[in-house]
Amino acid sequence: MAQSSFGWGLIGASTIASEHMIAAIRAQAGHDVVGVASSNRERGRKFATQHEIDASYDSVDALLADPRVAVVYVSTTNELHRDQVIAAAKAGKHVLCEKPLALSVADALEMSAACKAAGVVMATNHHLRNAATHRRIRELIQAGSIGKPLFARVFHAVYLPPHLQGWRIDKPQAGGGVILDITVHDVDTLRFLLDAEPVEAVGMTQSASLAKEGLEDGVMSVLRFDNGVVAQLHDAFTVRFGGNGIEVHGEAGSIVGRNVMTQRGVGELVLRNADGEKAVAVHHENLYVRGVASFCAALRGEGQPAATAEDGIRSLNAALAVVQACRTGVATQIVNPI
Ligand code: NDP
Repeated sequence: MAQSSFGWGLIGASTIASEHMIAAIRAQAGHDVVGVASSNRERGRKFATQHEIDASYDSVDALLADPRVAVVYVSTTNELHRDQVIAAAKAGKHVLCEKPLALSVADALEMSAACKAAGVVMATNHHLRNAATHRRIRELIQAGSIGKPLFARVFHAVYLPPHLQGWRIDKPQAGGGVILDITVHDVDTLRFLLDAEPVEAVGMTQSASLAKEGLEDGVMSVLRFDNGVVAQLHDAFTVRFGGNGIEVHGEAGSIVGRNVMTQRGVGELVLRNADGEKAVAVHHENLYVRGVASFCAALRGEGQPAATAEDGIRSLNAALAVVQACRTGVATQIVNPI
């Protein structure tokens, strides 16, 4: 009989775990968070107390040695994901890892290979493809509501909240910068909506105010997909009042999503085509709960996680192509990394 209850260990006493993921894990029947590993003993202890987590550990190895831990959720800063995921796989733990999976595609491939070799499930926490809005856009495109898709525009220029103004803007070695933080999500979302792969990137960055150490806090990039779609992506940490959204324009219609590039189950969709303009009904759900549910189903042997390790490798590959295109000013080909 398939295992039905799982203890989770958190690798990283992080904000995302605190604000979204602990609740999303606990929303799954038979799943609980039993331990947390933090590099700082006191912060780890406080985090465990605050979230009613039984054990706190000051090393990943100690967490992995806890026999109750069957699954780990990795949400440390990006440069740490690689070694932590490989260690977890070697210890026989299933892995849900944050994006970007790593700082290089070679590292991400190694992580995925380690999980495959250990026979454990690995998934990437790309939350947006779990949004009811994005799932509906994908259905509309697949049903032919806009005809052949031609263009997409992503509006994901936001203001980085003060409590997150740390390593993202001042630590390049931790994988800071808006491209690895936000563009990587846009890429995954567009791949999901269009069922297509990015093949070429151009872009320009901006370092306007928040970013230090040569990092970028804004970027505009353009990606060409293998189905011909050209997508424009605007991502930033510095825009307070821009709003967010996504548009997909096809030969026979357009879908406009407003307030849909967010962590919350919110937003509105409008479809415009020869039948006129109509609001599209959406039954919102918690994105993280849905994402963890698909991962938990995969642990039971039912299907694939919403975003697999391969999805995380591909989004990282395209985001790094944007980084390179911005640095060189030259269009960068995106080669299939898998
Ligand atoms: P945080 O900065 O909150 O946490 C990252 C690490 O920083 C923690 O693991 C912790 O280290 C350390 N840390 C946390 N709080 C403090 C503090 N007060 N003082 C000193 N150090 C601290 O990062 P996020 O939660 O924003 O991001 C973590 C990961 O999750 C990243 O990979 C990010 O890209 C991803 N992410 C994904 C999102 C999604 O929707 N999929 C959304 C947000 C982030 P230690 O564990 O050693 O204690």
